[in-house]
Amino acid sequence: MPTTLTREYRFFLRPDGDYTVKGNSWSGTASGMSVAPFLTLRATLTGPVDLVTGYLINIQEIDHALAELVQTVYAQRRPAAWTYVDMLQESHRLRESFGGAFQVVATELAVSPFLTFRLDFGEQEMLTISQEFEFSAAHRLDCPTMSAEENQRYFGKCNHPNGHGHNYVVAVTMQCRDAQFPLAEFEANVKRLVIDRFDHQHLNLDLPEFADLNPSVENIARVVWDLLRAEPFFADLQNVRVYETPKTWADYHDSSANTDLGGSKTRTTSS
Ligand SMILES: [Zn+2]
Repeated sequence: MPTTLTREYRFFLRPDGDYTVKGNSWSGTASGMSVAPFLTLRATLTGPVDLVTGYLINIQEIDHALAELVQTVYAQRRPAAWTYVDMLQESHRLRESFGGAFQVVATELAVSPFLTFRLDFGEQEMLTISQEFEFSAAHRLDCPTMSAEENQRYFGKCNHPNGHGHNYVVAVTMQCRDAQFPLAEFEANVKRLVIDRFDHQHLNLDLPEFADLNPSVENIARVVWDLLRAEPFFADLQNVRVYETPKTWADYHDSSANTDLGGSKTRTTSS
């Protein structure tokens, strides 16, 4: 797989439209002068890695291109005249900002720590929105086909007989077909279908989905996917990620929902 490099550029949109005094930072003049959206724009590039420097590209070049986009294109309209999707779509201009050896493969606009818009420049451009939601719940991991000792050894603390809690984070990614993505409806649907049902419950005891299914983070991701995908609103669902802890999360998407390739899941953990 070719190497990619991602650089994050931090900026704010001042209501007075003055974009001249800027660096890659949220600190500085706007903080003390006005109320302004604090935003993050990321660019992911691919290309050859230089054998001498070890660089794919100097990040100063990426900062320069991102700053130019902010200071020229984003400055053309007042903040209230933009949608976030409009802003991100303008980032396609970055594809002409670098030499032929480098390709911009994706850009992201993070508008809060929990809400990100992403544009992938593949054979077909794809715009997605990812939002994180939170719930707290108890569970117990235990397999009836294993002995008590085996369960304890395999699942460790998550086998505690009386259960225990986690603060889960659910990141839902949807394809975004136009600039007027119905964010409020999206949030309300995830809240109704998942968060309100899971929050402050004992997953094994209170949710029928886990009556005979171990509520591992992998299975929770799949159950959340199934709950969302059953609603017509989520026809463009792309991925569900569930964090059991900041160190462990699972991704699930069932590509057979649109094609016949079967489901896909990954588990990421570190200790
Ligand atoms: Zn646990």
